[in-house]
Amino acid sequence: MCSYLLDGSHEAVPGDKILQQFRHAIERASSEKGPLSIKVYTSGSFLDEDEVPTDTRNQILDLISEDERVSEVVLESRPQYVTEDSMGIIYDLLDGRHVEIGVGLESSSDAIRTLCINKGFETEDFAEAVTTAKAHKIGIRAYVLLKPPFLTERDALLDSVRTIEDAAKMGVTTISVNPVNVQKHTLVERLWTRGLYRPPWLWTLVEVLSQARAQVDSSVNIVCDPVAAGKKRGVHNCRRCDESITMAVRNFSLNQKTGVFDALDCDCRHLWSHTLEHEDFALLVHSIKR
Ligand SMILES: [Zn+2]
Repeated sequence: MCSYLLDGSHEAVPGDKILQQFRHAIERASSEKGPLSIKVYTSGSFLDEDEVPTDTRNQILDLISEDERVSEVVLESRPQYVTEDSMGIIYDLLDGRHVEIGVGLESSSDAIRTLCINKGFETEDFAEAVTTAKAHKIGIRAYVLLKPPFLTERDALLDSVRTIEDAAKMGVTTISVNPVNVQKHTLVERLWTRGLYRPPWLWTLVEVLSQARAQVDSSVNIVCDPVAAGKKRGVHNCRRCDESITMAVRNFSLNQKTGVFDALDCDCRHLWSHTLEHEDFALLVHSIKR
């Protein structure tokens, strides 16, 4: 479902070019007063030296540490690069800042992560990364994928709630729920154009956030900023209620209060409940075979 492979260049980008891009981004924020939150999203692993040379990485961290407006830093990486070494360096350079490493756990089920997402690591690797980061006072922001392909709406709902609970137990500091959106030239797009995939309902997202918030310790933030919400390629309901529900989701992310969902209602809720009860995975598999 992810278009990173297609977005990315097959040639390595030299370190000085990466640094130049980073300086440019910082300059664009020069009029901001702060406190600032810097998110270094590389569409890959910021801590993988094959993607970002070690010198460049450290120069970027240096630039961040010199900027007193910055109070929070989020870097992205796969779990295997969250090591004693990399965490030690980040702790030394960014001491005093709230630092989180964003890691795409997606699902805490090895079967779902492997078969539906093809991610290439185990839950155990993720748990180890959380422990290693924690030992250096660095938090982990777990990305949870809502409704990868080949799951029914109900299974997707259950999987995301369970994943959030599991991630919280492992000790993550933030959970970011990402509903699948249909990106170009992906398997999900092929399934979607054949009527074999529907992005998650906004009702499902609301249910995931409500159930997870009730279960998980209040020290763990649960956030969601859905891409393409209300669009046919993104998380959506019936169009009429999409905007109000998306706004409620954004409010929830800011204040963590599930009360924002209480007043939401729409006729399409019945159809969603019906889907949860009656959508049949066997039928889905049958259609895919055809
Ligand atoms: Zn509706």
